[in-house]
Amino acid sequence: MIPSAEADDVGLEIDPDEQERLLSVGPADVSAAPELTFARNVFVPLTTACRYTCTYCTYYDPPGEASLLSPEELREICREGAGAGCTEALFTFGDDPDDRYEAIYEQLQSYGHDSIHSYLREACEIALEEGLLPHANPGDQTREQMSQVADVNASMGVMLETTADVPAHAGSRRKEPGQRLTTIRTAGELGIPFTTGILVGIGEDWTDRAESLLAIAQLHERYGHIQEVIVQPVSPNERWDGGRPDLATMRRTVAMARAALPEEISVQVPPNLARTRELLDCGVDDLGGVSPVTDDHVNPEYAWPALAELRAIADSAGVPLRERLPVYERYVDEAWLGEPVLEAIRAEDDAGERFRAVLSEHDG
Ligand code: SF4
Repeated sequence: MIPSAEADDVGLEIDPDEQERLLSVGPADVSAAPELTFARNVFVPLTTACRYTCTYCTYYDPPGEASLLSPEELREICREGAGAGCTEALFTFGDDPDDRYEAIYEQLQSYGHDSIHSYLREACEIALEEGLLPHANPGDQTREQMSQVADVNASMGVMLETTADVPAHAGSRRKEPGQRLTTIRTAGELGIPFTTGILVGIGEDWTDRAESLLAIAQLHERYGHIQEVIVQPVSPNERWDGGRPDLATMRRTVAMARAALPEEISVQVPPNLARTRELLDCGVDDLGGVSPVTDDHVNPEYAWPALAELRAIADSAGVPLRERLPVYERYVDEAWLGEPVLEAIRAEDDAGERFRAVLSEHDG
């Protein structure tokens, strides 16, 4: 349950009747989507430093071990990604590194920056220069931080994960649902097309899942900025031995997401983590981003083994697979996107043509 002070802060009021109705939804109550979409992205792991220590996460590295890409390194990744046909630079982060990460701050200073957001702005500009549309996931953000990078991102995101206070987030550096909700609200206030999602199996119960989905739906109702909601199962790894949600749990959760969210919001499952084929009839309509695993630019098909898997998934459902940009079509205008991103999409160069070709494929 959302702690009441946090719900008050974000101004959410979850209707208990609506929550009860959502709890009764199952796969038979929703329909399969008529098509599946995906984006071609390249991962840019800007930093592995994170102020939190979620117990299911293998992304973050402790102080002394965390990395920060240099401008040259990230430019090279973006160049290779654009060369392989990607449209999106997916900037992955921990959450704002705290002051334990002295080495990261020294490195930031040596690059001429005093904060990770200041550096993120430069990183997004580099991605745009190299022909990619930035999508950054910097975790919890203040309004000031988000404003600093909003106009150079095609879209941004943060996983809500759950509105519940779960032990997986416990500890001295604890990620709080209220901060995530505030971040999603701030994105709405700033008019940023936004991706969020829930993480299934980290200690939340069914009521929490319903509440999380309704909270996202309510924020979207207010601001219209949510483009997709990811339903992601937690996965066992070296830090997490709490198991993964079974198929029945995922099927019911995806169906609840489809039922809770308005039609224009895509429901995404990550094919590398979920049994996607067995979730398609529960209302999945997006398969997220795929990346090339080699920089073999000579044979594009060879560079995209993950794409073949997405095609096979779409074939198994008998629906078309369409590429999309990291920003959904309905947001591609002055009301939602900053000038640097719009210029990149409208540019008379290879990248601009690539972006517009994807947009016209989707329109067609
Ligand atoms: S906030 Fe994100 S990166 Fe940091 S520990 Fe939690 S899941 Fe990992």
